[in-house]
Amino acid sequence: MTVINGKDRSGNVALVGAGPGAADLLTLRALMLIQQADAVVYDRLVSEDVLALIPPRCQRFDVGKSRGRHSVSQAEIGALLVQLAQQGLQVVRLKGGDPAIFGRLAEELDALDAAAVSWQIVPGISAASGCAAATGIPLTERGIAQQLRFISAVDKDCNTAQDWASLAGPGQTLVFYMGLSALSEISQQLIAHGLAPDWPLLLVENGSRPQQRQLLTTLAEAATAARHMALQSPCLILVGEVTRRQRQTAQLLTRLKRQLAAEIAA
Ligand code: SAH
Repeated sequence: MTVINGKDRSGNVALVGAGPGAADLLTLRALMLIQQADAVVYDRLVSEDVLALIPPRCQRFDVGKSRGRHSVSQAEIGALLVQLAQQGLQVVRLKGGDPAIFGRLAEELDALDAAAVSWQIVPGISAASGCAAATGIPLTERGIAQQLRFISAVDKDCNTAQDWASLAGPGQTLVFYMGLSALSEISQQLIAHGLAPDWPLLLVENGSRPQQRQLLTTLAEAATAARHMALQSPCLILVGEVTRRQRQTAQLLTRLKRQLAAEIAA
């Protein structure tokens, strides 16, 4: 408990999902917490559109990380959250997508628990759902994909080891997060373990954002295609028959047209 302006006030931390990028894909709870926050600590994946919702009076901390290059260590992030909460602040820890999916949530909860700081988790739309919606595909389909698997393409030491035999099994949709640099290995391993070289694979860069790019390709051609397009992170790799339905959604086309019109007018 901290005394601020003569009143008792406990700080706390909300670990909030910022969704895939489009600000209107935030939950109402996320928006309300952002608007009420004293301090926001955010990642590299949180889009400019979402950051624009942070009130000007609010303290902002960019702890952005890219794979293998940690600008602020996980221990430092934990310590920062604890320190801010112990000042009696309402802290929002904004994380791209859903904080519970490949978001290092466990480490942050441990740090908060160790310091007896109270917290809540606010789910967000994960890249898988955001990219599926923005490309017009279902993630599961009766008779085609009864399983949906979210896979971190690399582990904490940047290794790509996976249970490839099980991933190459039938009736599933595979969603690889953080997979762009491992794309060639992913495709080769899936082919080596039994998937057809022409098995469909969908690449989605910046899913749900105005600059979204997507490509429906095949396991055999994916790595070359990604190089050709110079795809950058964040990029999601979806593998499976459901991806064949991909199309530019009407919403995206409208946004692109509006953007083009604005550029022409400028
Ligand atoms: N917690 C996040 C995932 C963090 S891991 C979530 O639930 O979405 C980071 C990876 O997520 C990126 O490397 C990329 O593979 C994927 N990702 C996040 N946002 C994305 C977006 N807008 N478009 C495509 N991929 C995205």
